[in-house]
This record gives sequence, structure tokens and C-alpha cells, in this order.
Amino acid sequence: MQITEHVHALKIPFKIKGIACAMDRFVYVYLIYGKKIYLIDSGVSTSPALIFDYIRRSERDPADIASIFLTHSHVDHMGGAAFIKKETGCKVIAHEDEKLWIEDIEEQFRSRPIPGFRSLVGKSVEVDVVIKSDQTIVLEENLNLEAIHTPGHTQGSLSYYLKEDKVLCVGDLMPEPKDIIVFQDFNDSVKSLQRLKEKKGVERLLSSWREPEDDDVPQNLLDAGLQYLDQIYETVVKVSGGSSEIEAMELCRRVVEELDLPLIARHIIVARTLTKILKLQKK
Ligand SMILES: [Zn+2]
Repeated sequence: MQITEHVHALKIPFKIKGIACAMDRFVYVYLIYGKKIYLIDSGVSTSPALIFDYIRRSERDPADIASIFLTHSHVDHMGGAAFIKKETGCKVIAHEDEKLWIEDIEEQFRSRPIPGFRSLVGKSVEVDVVIKSDQTIVLEENLNLEAIHTPGHTQGSLSYYLKEDKVLCVGDLMPEPKDIIVFQDFNDSVKSLQRLKEKKGVERLLSSWREPEDDDVPQNLLDAGLQYLDQIYETVVKVSGGSSEIEAMELCRRVVEELDLPLIARHIIVARTLTKILKLQKK
């Protein structure tokens, strides 16, 4: 689906299998069409076929893919990168804090064994260009992409702003209601959303988990994200009864119930995130 002059959105459906349940999910990959093609994220291991097919249907050549700009290291964003790089010789770009998990998926699995991990990722992939702080990348004449460091969901999460089209891609930074809650740092998530709110001129905001709508107003989406973070915080405080002693999985079970999240969110990774939020109370 074409969003603006240069930006296209491609929805990648996939399934994750938990121990007791499976869940249909999707993730968005964004394509920037210039003389070359630039991807923002590469989706899961099954994405390359869908991406190549989309490119061919729009009468372009997958061999034109020049680079993949990763928002972060999670397997549903980098799972297809190794295959695309092998087929096209494109460059992979990511923040330095994400490099380890992108280049060593076994290390990522040890630290973050999400349900269905193995089916979501192909292989580890080498990062060719490391981003250390905010910078503007000239993709080609009249196509400038700003990489903005927006930690929170992960330490090295990047948002990308295509200046010419006034489009901002935020990856997983925005928490989605009724979805799995994962942030590395709650306060950083708040700060990053607030920072993006101050950015002038943004006309479209694209997230990995949200269907792009023509009438989306970026400021409203960012406000809704901030409000939902507030709601998560308040819920953690409420269901814990103000006690920091509650067991992590019990806290998770109660929050999943209270916020009406999918059952697959009853997971140790979500529990860890919620426990970190609980600890913030003391500060
Ligand atoms: Zn993620």
C-alpha cells in the first residue's frame, strides 16, 4: 500500500506459538522507493518472499534494495534481514546497542526467549553501518532519512523520519492497547514519545503494529501512546496493591486480566517488564 510519494507499507502476517496457545500477528515493513529501494525493518523469516513479491508487483526489482534500516534487534523486525542481504547485497543499518542481538541470534534467544522464536528468525546478520546518535543519512538526491535515537522499547531503538515525505516510522516504540507489553525502560519510553511529540512538521506516523489510516494525526497517536503508558503504570500499581513483593508471574497474570490482554501476554518477558515498572514506584 502506497502511503506517500516514496513510502509504501507492507503488512506481514505471521503466527507465534506459545506453550498453550497460538496467536495470529502481523508486523509492518516500510519500503522507501527512490532510484533505489530502502527498507525500514525486514519482518520475520517468511517476509522476504512477500517483500520481493510486493516490489515486483509494483514493477520494481528486488535487486534495487540498497539498505535495510532496522528499528531494533527483535526477531520480528530483523528475522528476514539475512536472506534479503544475501540475495541483494544490501547494507544493514542499526543502532550500536542493538548490534549484538542482530549479529548473534543465539545470544538474543538466551536473553529473550519469546514464544516461537526459532520460527520468526532466519539467521544472524552482520550490521554494516552502526548508528551511535541522531544523524541524517542522505539516501540519494532529494531523499534524506533522519535516524532518531528513541530508547524505551529497547535501548537502541531508532525511529526514522523521511524528511521529504514528512513521514516518521517509530517501530515498536508506541505501546498498542490489547497487545503484549514490552519495554526495556518505561521512563525512556515516556521520554522518547514526548521528544517525538516536539518534532515539528511530521504529517504521518507509522508504527510496526498499527494499521496506517489516512486520517491519522501524529500528535494524537503520540498522546494516545503516552496515555496508555500511564494506564499501564496505574494498573501495575493497582493490582499490586502498592506492594513490591508480589511475584512477577502473578503480577503479570493480574495485569493481563485487568487490561484484557491476549493470554500469550502471560509470559516471563512481560512479567519482567511489569516488575520493572513496579520498582519505579519507590523512586
Ligand atoms: Zn520489538
